[in-house]
Amino acid sequence: SEEAIIRSEKLSLIGQLAAGIAHDIRNPLTSLKGFVKLLKAKNADYVDVMLEELEHINYVVNEFMTLAKPHLNCYMESTSLGLVKSVVGFLQPHAHLYNVQIHIDMDPDIPAIYCNPDQIKQVLINILKNAIESMPNGGIIQIAIRNPIHQGVVIRIEDQGVGISGERLSQLGEPFYTTKVNGTGLGLMVCKRIIEGHGGKLLIQSKINEGTTVEIELPFNK
Ligand code: ADP
Ligand code: MG
Repeated sequence: SEEAIIRSEKLSLIGQLAAGIAHDIRNPLTSLKGFVKLLKAKNADYVDVMLEELEHINYVVNEFMTLAKPHLNCYMESTSLGLVKSVVGFLQPHAHLYNVQIHIDMDPDIPAIYCNPDQIKQVLINILKNAIESMPNGGIIQIAIRNPIHQGVVIRIEDQGVGISGERLSQLGEPFYTTKVNGTGLGLMVCKRIIEGHGGKLLIQSKINEGTTVEIELPFNK
């Protein structure tokens, strides 16, 4: 029956996801084990690498949890878009590493939005990380927060990075599509799910060697 087909497709997607996640978790764990052994042999310079690997594990597990149980953490609350600034602050060290500057331009008097702040933070982190990583030689990320429509807000994130070809643009949001050595290829898929779960939209435009613009549209009230 059609229902059985859909169920088996779902199961196979979950299997694919689990395999990918297991792989992504095993790599940093192996690395951590190695550094812990080195630490034991009394050299403390490896703590930074260990913390980085722990952060990667945490990131992968968070993304997986969002996929596996999208309704686990679905409480909504009135949230100020000052949230964007705090996410940018959080990512400052990562941006610095890539020689990237992040500018924010926010319209005055933007009302609070009704959302799950943790999920929206996760979306902003994923999209900003992609923007930073698209500029290996540095550059500027321009964030604009606009209030052009009565019912909602638009957060536009524009980078000057490598861009995405038209052909690849259509593959975005599919699980495990990644061009990065350490990528999970899950970030945009998670973003799409979260934004759609909020009754919003995620739009991506891009030009090779010019940059990428991601627009997050969110309603004030779902
Ligand atoms: P990951 O970042 O782990 O690769 P994502 O789902 O976040 O997974 O992104 C998938 C792919 O989309 C990236 O590997 C990259 O090729 C492309 N991509 C996403 N955002 C951008 C961007 N701002 N500029 C260029 N390429 C991007
Ligand atoms: Mg990503």
